[in-house]
Amino acid sequence: MKYILTLVFSLTFFQTILAQKPVYQQAYEAHENYREESINSRRFKHADVEPLLLRLRDEPGFSVSQLGTSIEGRPIYDVSVGIGDTQVLMWSQMHGNEPTATMAGLDLFNFLVADDQFDELREEILSNLTLHFVPMLNPDGAEVFERRNAIDIDLNRDALRLTSPESRILKNIRDSLDADFGFNLHDQSTYYTAGINEEPATISFLPPAYNYEKDVNEVREKAMQMIVQLNEALQYYVPGQVARYNDDFEPRAFGDNIQKWGTSTVLIESGGYPRDPEKQEIRKLNFMLLLTALHAIATESYTERDREAYWEIPENERYLYDLVVRNVQREMNGNFYTVDVGINRVEIEFDENQDFFYVSSIRELGDMSTYYGYEDFDAEGMVAVPGKIYPELQSDLRAVTELNTKKLLRNGYTTVRVEDIEGQEKIRQQLTLDVIGLEAEPEYELLLGNRPNFILEKNGKPRYAVVNGFLREL
Ligand SMILES: [Zn+2]
Repeated sequence: MKYILTLVFSLTFFQTILAQKPVYQQAYEAHENYREESINSRRFKHADVEPLLLRLRDEPGFSVSQLGTSIEGRPIYDVSVGIGDTQVLMWSQMHGNEPTATMAGLDLFNFLVADDQFDELREEILSNLTLHFVPMLNPDGAEVFERRNAIDIDLNRDALRLTSPESRILKNIRDSLDADFGFNLHDQSTYYTAGINEEPATISFLPPAYNYEKDVNEVREKAMQMIVQLNEALQYYVPGQVARYNDDFEPRAFGDNIQKWGTSTVLIESGGYPRDPEKQEIRKLNFMLLLTALHAIATESYTERDREAYWEIPENERYLYDLVVRNVQREMNGNFYTVDVGINRVEIEFDENQDFFYVSSIRELGDMSTYYGYEDFDAEGMVAVPGKIYPELQSDLRAVTELNTKKLLRNGYTTVRVEDIEGQEKIRQQLTLDVIGLEAEPEYELLLGNRPNFILEKNGKPRYAVVNGFLREL
């Protein structure tokens, strides 16, 4: 009897625990069930997203309306659901190469159409608010994976002049709803840090200012309270990796103006997360944030937050590189100098901007003791010897894959010259050796702007190689 009682007690206890799990935790843990599986990396396009939006037309409670078209004629949609009085407007990818929140938005739609153990949560949200989500506001930019639109303007500096149709679309929907809340969803540099340390700013927030004085009125205060609540959720998963953006007033930006027009506006910037180049972990965090925000609005839980806690979030700084190699000895004219080397990897696109390979570059040299690398390597006691070009010309990239990479690197060759370097980018993406075409005359001295190709020798023996910005043990 005693055991049965214990069992009953335990079950009730666990049920209570389950019921008390905060919404952000439920959202994060359940994300995989709602993840839009057709999109797995950042370089998707309007044609990939459009059918996913249009199919929502068949879902009860959803409406999908075309708000207009981009300069190049791509339809821009408003996905709307909910019957509550509070109007919530979210828009993503106003910068074409900032797609993380679009992915999360698609996951959010999948969540909202589902019928499962979260029905109560959906009901609570959708009876208290009406959501309007405009995914991929800049489809022409997304097409070429660029920030700006087809006429090369930054939509986020077009809130006053409204010269571009995409800008007018955003302004019109904001005005027609007179939205209570606005979520301006972006991506930021992966090199940003949460304060002066090695923690990436995985998510940064801003409740944009609405005047040069940076006053806080009731509209902006709500945005600050919302950020305080969202930050609490993030600290559970990415402690120390949340920052706040500079809040200087930018009179031409949308966030600042939408705040000014009376919509409590939260800017969410998705930054970097270690070993997550396609931002799939950050997508999950975005999903969690969007759902948490909707729930907070529906229940008004954000009003219980102290807006002053916003200022405790560290500021967005820039202290990260992709790779920092420290304490390298480099020789010049017979003398040796100790330098740290800061290396960043640039994405070069191919396959109609749907894929990329890396070309790296030396971005900093000298004392980098106050900077950090996603990968950080101490080369204490090692001498950097510039990489050499392999003397045997190769016909194409496939031929390069046949070479004995390790042997070449041990002999100081980081780079292979090939006759035909074009059109084999899929292979280039996988290469451990660096490649150059017939014409190139590269310079691999440790100097700013050069491609980081060098061998790290200890007592005259090759120990490591840095090839196109990637560290290899030899
Ligand atoms: Zn942006």
